[in-house]
Parts: sequence; C-alpha cells; structure tokens
Amino acid sequence: MFTNSIYDLHTHSTASDGALTPTALVERAASRGIKVMALTDHDCVLGVSEAQAAGEKLGVQVVAGSELSITWNNMQIHIAGLFLDINAPKLVEYLKNQRVRRVERAKAIAEKLERQGIHNAYERTLAMAGENANITRGSYARFIFSIGQAQSTDDAFNSYLRKGKSCYVKTQWPDIATAVSTIKAAGGIAVLAHPKRYLMTNMKLRSLIEDFKAVGGEAMEVSSCSQSPSERDYLAKLSLHYELLASLGSDFHAELSYRDLGRGLALPDEVNPVWKCPQAEAMGIANLGL
Ligand code: AMP
Ligand code: MN
Ligand code: MN
Ligand code: MN
Repeated sequence: MFTNSIYDLHTHSTASDGALTPTALVERAASRGIKVMALTDHDCVLGVSEAQAAGEKLGVQVVAGSELSITWNNMQIHIAGLFLDINAPKLVEYLKNQRVRRVERAKAIAEKLERQGIHNAYERTLAMAGENANITRGSYARFIFSIGQAQSTDDAFNSYLRKGKSCYVKTQWPDIATAVSTIKAAGGIAVLAHPKRYLMTNMKLRSLIEDFKAVGGEAMEVSSCSQSPSERDYLAKLSLHYELLASLGSDFHAELSYRDLGRGLALPDEVNPVWKCPQAEAMGIANLGL
C-alpha cells in the first residue's frame, strides 16, 4: 500500500549532500502532499531561509533543522536539531567550527583519492555539489559515481570511503553533550537520528540513548523509509521506555532512491509525536488532523 506522511522531518538539500536545491526540495515535498518538512542538512542551516520562503508560497511549513555529526564511543552518530533559531549565537559558532572541520576533512579525503587516481576531487565535488555546500562523504560518493569510478554511491563507499577503506579519514566530531546543549541553546529539540542504522548491538544502542537522554536529548526517530514493521515497533517501545518524543523522516537526498519524501512514514498510535512539543505548537503544526 502507498502511504505518504504529511510530515517529513529529516531531509537534505544542496546546502550539504542533497541533490535538490532547497526550493526544488520543497516543491517536491508539496507535490507529494507533505505539509510539514524539516530541512536537516549536515552541520549547517544554509538552506533553511530559502526553503522557508519556498514553503510559504507552496503551503509547506518548513521546520529549521540541522543534522549534527558527533563522536560517541569512537562511533559517528547523528543528532538532528529541530525548531532551531538559526541565528542563535552558540549555534552559529558551533556550525562555523564544524564547517572548518569539514573542509579540512574533505581536503584530506581528496588527498587520499588523488593517490587512488581520482584527481582534484575536492574542487570537482564542490563544483558538483555547489560552491557553498557542506561537503560530506555522501557528496564524494555521488561525485565518484558520476565519473564512473564506482557502480553506485554505495559502491563508492564500499570501495573508497567506508571505515577501513583507502580514503577513509578518521574525524573527531564534537561530543554528544556539546551537540545537544547547542541545539537547546538555539531553542530546538534534539532528536537521535536513524537509531537502527548504527552498527551496534541493541544493548549499546540503549546505552547511547541513556547518554543522549542524560545530556538533555528529547526525541528519537521511530519511523524511516524501508523499515521493517518489527524495527519500527522496537523503536516505538524504546521511545516510550525512555520517555522520548517520536519523530519520523525519510532522510531524502536525491531522486531515484528508495528514500523519498514522506514515503512509508508513520508513527504507531501509542508514541508521543514530536509535533506535539511546544515549539511545534508555536508554529501551528501540532494539530494537522493526525
Ligand atoms: P559524513 O558525515 O561526511 O561522514 O557523510 C555521511 C553521509 O554519507 C550520510 O549522511 C549519507 O548521506 C552518506 N552515506 C553514508 N553511507 C552511504 C552509502 N553506503 N552510500 C551512499 N551514501 C552514504
Ligand atoms: Mn547525507
Ligand atoms: Mn544521518
Ligand atoms: Mn540525514
């Protein structure tokens, strides 16, 4: 059955490693019946104003967000901030530092790609992604695929970019407390992104959630694209057990992917949706009939 949620709270644009401009992304959201969309580009909010302007024209409420990379127990974890004041000084400073870190890392990855015979990867990826884009490994994967050096973006990861592969660059991201406190200082809600996508046991995941909760984390993603019903039920139970609000999002990056805006997203009845939080109430998105 085709189900399409009117909420999608995890998406990417050309401000980071998405393929669509913020405007084109919101147009796609509108055409798919989305009423509330959060733009959550990696470690930046550069696309938010454009997306909100497009949303106003098209009847899509755009939540200001960002997906922050953190390091927890030597692993790279993603915490999304939703309902952000994008001009909050602490957030602005945090994102400025993250940009410096990402540029350094992107250049270090390019040096390694150079040794594998892929030339000027930083400049060429930037040209493809957009001059102001925050470059991620996802941006490199799309570039490597586009020049025929990989069969798919997945293959680019498996051949070059994944941990243990030739072009992997270990990076120390901020810690969980810093990320969550920065989100909260910007008036936002911290959401643990795609909890089942990390390569960790359920016991370790619980320990991550406990640490996240202890530093003020308030929500977790419960529903995402192409997820089994049992996985969703498991995450729903965790959200109730840890008294976290439940979010949902496609993590859309590009067309022609199984992840599409709103696709198959739904929260079980028993959870507490993140769109019932005071920030959502203030935006007028708390009661849209769901
Ligand atoms: P980074 O934050 O620079 O380490 O890049 C992480 C991003 O790479 C993720 O947000 C995804 O967009 C992308 N990514 C991760 N794994 C894959 C994969 N197997 N194929 C394509 N893109 C991926
Ligand atoms: Mn990405
Ligand atoms: Mn992510
Ligand atoms: Mn994402």
